[in-house]
Amino acid sequence: MNKGTIYLVGAGPGDPELITVRGRRLIERADVIVYDRLVPTRLLDAAGKDAELIYVGKSPERHTLSQAEINELLVSRASEGAKVVRLKGGDPFIFGRGGEEALAAAEANVPFEVVPGVTAAVAAAACAGIPVTHRKIASEITFVTGHEDPEKGFSQLDFASLASRRGTLAFYMGVGNLESICRSLIENGMAVDTPAAAIQQGATPWQRTITGTLETLAGQVRDEKLHPPAIVIIGRVVSLRDRLRWFEDRPLFARYVLVTRARSQSASLVERLERLGARVVQMPAIRIEPPDDPEPLTQAAIRAGRYDWIVFTSVNGVNAFFGTLGRTGADARSLGNARVCAIGPATAERLERSGIRPDAQPARALTAEIAAALEAAGMTSGDSVLCPRADIAPPDLPDALKAKGAVVEEVIAYRTVPDGSGAAEVQRRIEAGEIDWITFTSASTVRNFFSFVDPAVVSRALVKPASIGPVTSAALGEFGLSPAVEAKSHTIGGLLDAMMNAAVRGH
Ligand code: SAH
Repeated sequence: MNKGTIYLVGAGPGDPELITVRGRRLIERADVIVYDRLVPTRLLDAAGKDAELIYVGKSPERHTLSQAEINELLVSRASEGAKVVRLKGGDPFIFGRGGEEALAAAEANVPFEVVPGVTAAVAAAACAGIPVTHRKIASEITFVTGHEDPEKGFSQLDFASLASRRGTLAFYMGVGNLESICRSLIENGMAVDTPAAAIQQGATPWQRTITGTLETLAGQVRDEKLHPPAIVIIGRVVSLRDRLRWFEDRPLFARYVLVTRARSQSASLVERLERLGARVVQMPAIRIEPPDDPEPLTQAAIRAGRYDWIVFTSVNGVNAFFGTLGRTGADARSLGNARVCAIGPATAERLERSGIRPDAQPARALTAEIAAALEAAGMTSGDSVLCPRADIAPPDLPDALKAKGAVVEEVIAYRTVPDGSGAAEVQRRIEAGEIDWITFTSASTVRNFFSFVDPAVVSRALVKPASIGPVTSAALGEFGLSPAVEAKSHTIGGLLDAMMNAAVRGH
């Protein structure tokens, strides 16, 4: 049998976007992914649906695999012919025992490839506003482990040499031994007032940074209960943080933001919130499912070219329509000369990805404007109009089109199924003041959310509802609530702008 390959892939420091392009591509193609505790789990979403995911990090419930067992697992799976991705936090060859895994591969004659990653010290320092080198301040950086192999003993480190370095010291795994690290450096002659920083969960929305001096840092870290994983940076570059901090100053940094959209639609909102530093909590309240009877949609999709117009009201509708078309073996050409109307910029964008440029695109998602836009684009009395929609979509739009003389055919493209899992916990967190914002991106997400969460709790709590537009705000009104902010442009970008402006104003 052909031998597989072991790929030692650096996952970066914890932000799922800080992996290399090569690393990400290998995750998509892997047969087996063996991963650690510090790997962002979101990266695993990119794995193929048949990939086998094996967790080998420490956990309270499970027996932890020894390094020898991990080596054996990698080698045996690759020997069976699998593409094995060994996904490790940061860089695989920096304090991650990646060197031992590569040696095991080499000894077993299994082909391997190493994909470097952004190592934690560099990333955490960058996100704390600390350049680890600087032409005038530090000409070297030393990576040090603060947690030596217990069998070798901590004294393995040459503190006399470390204390005499003129550049930057970066300690990994140093929180537990911080007191003795700092003391040893001082005893060996390093200046007590050397600037020092500890950065917990760097490069993530949970980043915490404490700065002090070689003399004070250990006490501060203890008093302020800073926990691993953390990097300790010692050296004069730390003083640049005062002028260079940026990550923690972003308006939504460390804010807890609840996303109520269906999971299948939430990716871009979640991603953009995280880019702004938010800690995203998801409670979709609905799931998108295929219709009970797929036949009407299938028939409509195959014969799409016979309609004068097809009106898509949501991204879900486009997904369902083209998914169905694809399963019948057909493609966008089935639309023939049918003209297409897209409601909302996201729907238009989704259509363009399927090669369809909309013929009509109303400026706003209001029934009267949609009907007017269709008319302006040439819809006349007697035209046949297909509306692929949600099972719960209200009749307003078809009614308005019929009033203009159109022959409307509605077909259920997808169902929205209420899903209350996680609601009790979310309500508890709102009540406890642990959620800063709730984002509402449609009237239906408002109604779904409050079918599981008590509006009185939201009204009493400090949490701020953010609404994407007037229709969504009106739905909040049905529950006696008003939004803290309403987007000016009714898009995800507009919603985020409104939240950021409010955060900057100090609300
Ligand atoms: N191979 C990894 C390091 C593994 S050792 C790399 O190149 O980054 C694990 C240690 O890395 C932790 O104890 C901590 O000191 C550090 N670490 C990992 N992720 C971190 C993060 N996001 N912020 C701060 N330190 C981190």
